[in-house]
Amino acid sequence: MIYLDNAASTKLDEEVLTKMMPYLTEQYGNAQSQHAAGRASANAITAARDKIASLVGCRPDEVFFVSGGTEAGNTALKGVCALHKKGHLILSSIEHASLSESASDMQKLGFDVTFVQPESDGAVLAENIAKAMREDTIFCAVMAANNETGVIQPVEEIGKICREKGVFFYTDCVQTAAYLPLPANCADAMGFSSHKFYGPKGAGALILRKRSDVLRLISGGMQEMGFRGGTVNTAGIVGTAAAYEKACVNRDKVNAHIKGLRDKFVNRVLTEIEGTRLNGDINKMIPSIANISFDGCGGENILFLLDLKGICVSTGAACAAGAVSPSDTLITMGCGISEAKSSVRFSFGKHNTEEEVDLVFDALKFAVEKIRNN
Ligand code: PLP
Repeated sequence: MIYLDNAASTKLDEEVLTKMMPYLTEQYGNAQSQHAAGRASANAITAARDKIASLVGCRPDEVFFVSGGTEAGNTALKGVCALHKKGHLILSSIEHASLSESASDMQKLGFDVTFVQPESDGAVLAENIAKAMREDTIFCAVMAANNETGVIQPVEEIGKICREKGVFFYTDCVQTAAYLPLPANCADAMGFSSHKFYGPKGAGALILRKRSDVLRLISGGMQEMGFRGGTVNTAGIVGTAAAYEKACVNRDKVNAHIKGLRDKFVNRVLTEIEGTRLNGDINKMIPSIANISFDGCGGENILFLLDLKGICVSTGAACAAGAVSPSDTLITMGCGISEAKSSVRFSFGKHNTEEEVDLVFDALKFAVEKIRNN
């Protein structure tokens, strides 16, 4: 198998698994329990929280372990709404469903939402966020980089605008946590998922600078400093800290490796396969993603032919009731419907090799020719 879907999930790092193993086997105490087994879990969680805080540049009591980016985004958006009871929200139109669906839930409760579109290069302009601000704006969400195109968003600038207006700013860092430092000084809250940087699935963190800005989403016991009830996932938390530390320490080396593979692949596709276009500005992207449109091909047909050869990629298009609907992200960037439907996302990771890139290129060229000749 050749895996080029690292934006969807990554392979668990073996060193990370080794660090998690004790908490999946003999160290099974509940971190809330008042005995040695409980203390062993609680101590591991404290160490993990301290580690993440020092890597992010925040206080340990600003780190909340959650199930991942979806929960982090839901908690921030709905938690701010719950405290204000009414008001206006601003979201980029390219947010992940965890934010856009949360916003539509809030619309049903009477909150007003403005979606701000990106430019054709995939980036949302800070000035358009500023223009959308109203007297009653309480919340703004713009992701650090988009999951379909990889385009990095100007979150520092947007964070500054939000701060000046006293608007809570959440930035979804799920796609950037592996590649860029968290923008801890410009956002009120940030979220990430461990499985995007070789950690475990179902684990991640919400970094929340001021807890009193957000009403908790999950009530229960005193876990997570009383902010999120439920028995904590000790192994997942230990794995999150271990994976995040490894990602931060090796960031430059890994980024250079992944970017080398991605750029080589993009270059070959754009020069050697006619009728291809990269969606988004490559100079504004995280190193891992290449979203490419192929004239005259359905993205899902390319995916299918590559899958037959053991190659894993993804399309932004969603398939519902047998009909393929094009990616909203690409449409709001100005792509035509057929161009958007013909797109495939290739996302590279630290385990990929140059040889794999060449094999995927050959299989892709063959697949595109086959589809076009049919
Ligand atoms: N935000 C972005 C940008 C994502 O790409 C994803 C998942 O792919 C999520 C949020 C949700 O992450 P999870 O499914 O780990 O909760």
